[in-house]
Amino acid sequence: MVKVKVKLVSWEEIVDWSMRLAENIRASGWRPDVVVAVARGGYVPARLLCDFLEVTDLLSVQSQHWVEAAKMADKAILRYPYKLDMSGHKVLLVDDIVDTGESLMLAREYIMREWRPQELRIATLQWISPVAKIKPDYFLIEVKDWVWFQYPWTRLEDVTQFLSRIFKEVREVTEEDLKRLFEEWYGIHPHELGAYWEMALRRLESKGLLRKADGKYVRIKEQ
Ligand code: ADP
Repeated sequence: MVKVKVKLVSWEEIVDWSMRLAENIRASGWRPDVVVAVARGGYVPARLLCDFLEVTDLLSVQSQHWVEAAKMADKAILRYPYKLDMSGHKVLLVDDIVDTGESLMLAREYIMREWRPQELRIATLQWISPVAKIKPDYFLIEVKDWVWFQYPWTRLEDVTQFLSRIFKEVREVTEEDLKRLFEEWYGIHPHELGAYWEMALRRLESKGLLRKADGKYVRIKEQ
């Protein structure tokens, strides 16, 4: 049984999706003069949209979801807030995906209040409609069943995280069994990950969470 549904996204898909998203924006007859990427997930799509829409002005804001330790409640915060005068400008705010949409809502609210653009629209590659609190003005794919989109720009981070979750339950494992477990849990075969598989394991080793002994991976600390 797959524990987390994962869609492994390729660079080719990213380019194709961004191209088609740009076509939708063009077809609507609206043209932004500034693109704002929501860091970090929006960077690559935002840069590609600039290329496809012939926009030269690209900025970014960093919106981050974090768990407030005291309350254990999710809260989105804007890191490095800065002020600009965007009056008279049409802004396209870009992110990779709207899941809950909290980060995007926060970014939108901040930009509208502090930058005061003439207009702001939102574009994302994916929109997880059943859980999202907002619907972007432009999106390419509506996702009806929640999936973790494993985008190419978070591959190492995600694979490391996926592996560390396995090691929360498994103390000692051969590489072969680890590969089998990984496929069982995430529906991805490690050979699809190329060099990332080894890199993620090495990252866990260098963090002191894992070590290799007698052909087996052994968890070191409680994780
Ligand atoms: P969250 O409540 O998880 O912060 P958001 O909709 O605010 O959800 O998304 C914040 C960022 O987290 C997204 O821009 C994206 O980079 C990442 N993210 C959230 N959900 C997913 C998902 N299902 N697949 C891939 N990345 C995701």
